[in-house]
Amino acid sequence: MTKENNNLTADADLSLLAYCGLYCGACSFKVAAMENNRKHLSNIPAKYDYLKNMELKECPGCRNDNKCGDCKIKSCAVEKKIVYCGECDEYPCQLIKNFASDGIEHHKNILKNIEKIRKIGIEQWLLEEKKVYKCGCGKLLSWYAKDCIHND
Ligand SMILES: [Zn+2]
Repeated sequence: MTKENNNLTADADLSLLAYCGLYCGACSFKVAAMENNRKHLSNIPAKYDYLKNMELKECPGCRNDNKCGDCKIKSCAVEKKIVYCGECDEYPCQLIKNFASDGIEHHKNILKNIEKIRKIGIEQWLLEEKKVYKCGCGKLLSWYAKDCIHND
């Protein structure tokens, strides 16, 4: 861990930064479980349709026992003992470039995320993402629910 990461404030939760640069705090499945609201899953890519019928159970995020399943990017980063891919000498490698361009909407931003984290630091980035995905009504937004879905 770098010095920067040891100094995270209580508001910046490192568990919400996936190794690949995704913000776990906006994950449709995680937020659906947190708010017990399946509307977060309404517009997810067809590939993830199976999630719509799954029991809502909060995922602890990429760094913990995640629900994404096996991930080559995570395995690689863990093996290299880096906090996220932006710390890697080989960044951007083919693995992460393929992931960013696999056509899944929320994967498209990871390289941009990593560039930004490199500039402003992990903590500041986490705080900014938290704001981006906070709904005007006080609840949470997510990757595929970027406008308020909290009114019945
Ligand atoms: Zn709302």
